[in-house]
Amino acid sequence: MEIRTIGDLGEVTDKRVFVRVDFNVPLKDGTLTDDTRIRAALPTLKELLEGGASLVVASHLGRPKGQVKEDARMGPVAARLSELLGRDVEYRPTDGVLSPEVEQACQALAFEPGRVVLLENLRFDPGEEANERAFAERLSDLADVYVDDAFGAVHRAHASVAALPAVMIEQGRPTAAGRLLEREVEALSKLLGEPARPYVAVLGGAKVSDKLATIGSLVERVDALLIGGAMAFTFIAAEGGEIGDSLVEPDRFEDVRAARARALERGVLLELPTDVVAAPEMTPEAPRRTVPADQIPRGQKGLDIGPRSVEEFARILAEARTVLWNGPMGVFELEPFSAGTRGVATAIAGAGAFAVAGGGDSLAAVTKFGLEDGFDHLSTGGGASLEFLEGRELPGIQVLEVT
Ligand code: ADP
Ligand code: MG
Repeated sequence: MEIRTIGDLGEVTDKRVFVRVDFNVPLKDGTLTDDTRIRAALPTLKELLEGGASLVVASHLGRPKGQVKEDARMGPVAARLSELLGRDVEYRPTDGVLSPEVEQACQALAFEPGRVVLLENLRFDPGEEANERAFAERLSDLADVYVDDAFGAVHRAHASVAALPAVMIEQGRPTAAGRLLEREVEALSKLLGEPARPYVAVLGGAKVSDKLATIGSLVERVDALLIGGAMAFTFIAAEGGEIGDSLVEPDRFEDVRAARARALERGVLLELPTDVVAAPEMTPEAPRRTVPADQIPRGQKGLDIGPRSVEEFARILAEARTVLWNGPMGVFELEPFSAGTRGVATAIAGAGAFAVAGGGDSLAAVTKFGLEDGFDHLSTGGGASLEFLEGRELPGIQVLEVT
């Protein structure tokens, strides 16, 4: 797959560039607790500014559902962006996204290289999530060029990632992916095309229902599927295993049985944990014991995969030449239940494979364990990376494809 990138835009000097970014950052009491997503967009923003452009930067933040929510305003983001860019970021809290003042401010950017306007939270306007053409048309009036660097949002058919670039293209204006989106597509495409084999996928996390589509698609592509985290208990319980009080989704038993049958049919190794660390409560003080994964006593919850499972997963990972990891093996946030995630992440980092990790919590684990260097790519978009790897057409990428 090939998409247009900043390099294809030509001169941006004196142009106004609309940059869709993913500044959906965590906020606590009005303070930004993690600016990773803002930093991730800096290469694109800086490159465009160095090229002599002015910028209209826009993102969604949280889920305000088409209404103005005071605690979802972009103020704290504007302040942090200004610090990181080392220049003024013009932001005004508005009653919605667009207003005559905002439109005027963007008009004034023409022939004013280096100036940056940050729009209010795109989701304050119901037109954003509705992918409304009228909203996209008004956004298109704010700039001459469109760049999408919001990988975390490309799987959604929302106005700023789908209708807006489509309108710009109709009007003959340049559109392209930013550097972050470009890197994501390049790295993830390696897993979709002809990955070096064996290709091993490691899936975990809390809910199997979130990742069933991914499992279904990966079973058609990988050589081995290693399943940990709470989602393993739905697989184990579906076969009649005793899982005590562990998290389980009985309404998914049929789905996971079907995935298993398909794996068997294709000769894909589908591995589940054989032992787990169990405790009566999800607290660091709770008494723990390691038990067989299909014989967890009543009153106990499986909260991490056990040492034998780590060893077995690591043995398979050592042979892998391509690895995809999404979802922690246990409640790694609590030290007593972190060994499984740490062990598997270390095995992936140490394998001589092309290794990609995705998912907010999985990336937090990679950082926590200091294993960043062991991965070839850390994908910034949880849902977007999974949908991309399912081989689906993503609206925000499709519109930028070279045809
Ligand atoms: P990611 O963000 O990487 O996609 P998920 O959001 O799917 O991952 O899942 C992460 C969450 O799953 C973590 O908060 C972790 O504590 C939880 N989790 C993993 N294993 C278990 C388990 N055995 N029981 C309860 N929660 C679990
Ligand atoms: Mg998560």
